[in-house]
Amino acid sequence: MKREKKRACEVFHRASRFVVTSHQNIDGDGLGSALALASLLKKMGKEVRVVYDGRVPYFYLFLPGAEEVLSYEAFCSSFGSLDAFVVVDCSNPGRLGRVEELLQKASLVVNIDHHPDNSKFGHVNFVDPSSPASALLVYELAREMRIPLDANIAVPILTGIVTDTGGFQFAELNQTMFTIVGELVASGASLSTIMHHVFRYRRIEALKLLGRALEHLVFDPSYGCATTYLTQEDFAMCNAQEEDAEGIVDYGLYIPEAEVSIFFKEIAPEVYKVSLRSRQGFDVLSVAHHFGGGGHRKAAGFKMVGPLSLVYETVTGYVKALAQNMTCVGEKRC
Ligand code: 5GP
Ligand code: MN
Repeated sequence: MKREKKRACEVFHRASRFVVTSHQNIDGDGLGSALALASLLKKMGKEVRVVYDGRVPYFYLFLPGAEEVLSYEAFCSSFGSLDAFVVVDCSNPGRLGRVEELLQKASLVVNIDHHPDNSKFGHVNFVDPSSPASALLVYELAREMRIPLDANIAVPILTGIVTDTGGFQFAELNQTMFTIVGELVASGASLSTIMHHVFRYRRIEALKLLGRALEHLVFDPSYGCATTYLTQEDFAMCNAQEEDAEGIVDYGLYIPEAEVSIFFKEIAPEVYKVSLRSRQGFDVLSVAHHFGGGGHRKAAGFKMVGPLSLVYETVTGYVKALAQNMTCVGEKRC
């Protein structure tokens, strides 16, 4: 891994024209890592474009460089040759949408990620599943290349860390992390501004949508599982969009006895995006893998097609069987 970090730095020193991208349904870590890396490369005198196949959620538009993110169409019509394609926070190219086509044509791909199921699709793969956020890997690259941090680099890095640690709730704010956060703050990042945008900056449509999801919330104490859902009708009633559902899955784990939270989001008629969150003892990544998705042990997701009742029964049935099995082998829930 150290060797891959060095190889990534070599590419960053040698190449001149870069494209940086991240996964669809972009979050604060994907966007933060991409924007921080773009700023880092620009500081090194490189030509850089950030492309993303989707719309950047409005609550991330405060990030320096967010307004310069190119849509797939804008990128295709404006950018010619490139030396290196850098993909951040993305476990496999299938998660890039149409940007995957561009990746196939690239002669040099650098893959920077922290997902344990990363498929190592790059020519260089700086992948560290022990890192709480991909943005921390960008921080490590800046350190390795001795590029001084500034606000354009520090703000998106701290946003990535804040997002993926749930505001330091999912990963301990230990001495090392505290030191890094201190350095980012000293370089111009405001932790309170970032926390505000990531967690408490939502339009009224999003809050109404949250209300509907909370009304649908149920908890089954027999296997410690909280579930909720939002249909296309819910979105229409609230005049809400997909990005307005950000963070809803987290509410299930507010319940003290909950070990797992599952959120079913209808993103097209009878097409569900399923999000899973868990506490320490329950591996939701194995659930996501079973249904063709991915993620992390405590946060994972996948898509499933079918009517809500079928999707709901299939997923909860599988999770219930798994939870009861865990009880038998003496895991935390015994
Ligand atoms: P979320 O539920 O917030 O969309 O995603 C939680 C985690 O699971 C993130 O790390 C995300 O990258 C991953 N994830 C979500 N959906 C998918 C999917 O369909 N495929 C894969 N491979 N990973 C996913
Ligand atoms: Mn991440």
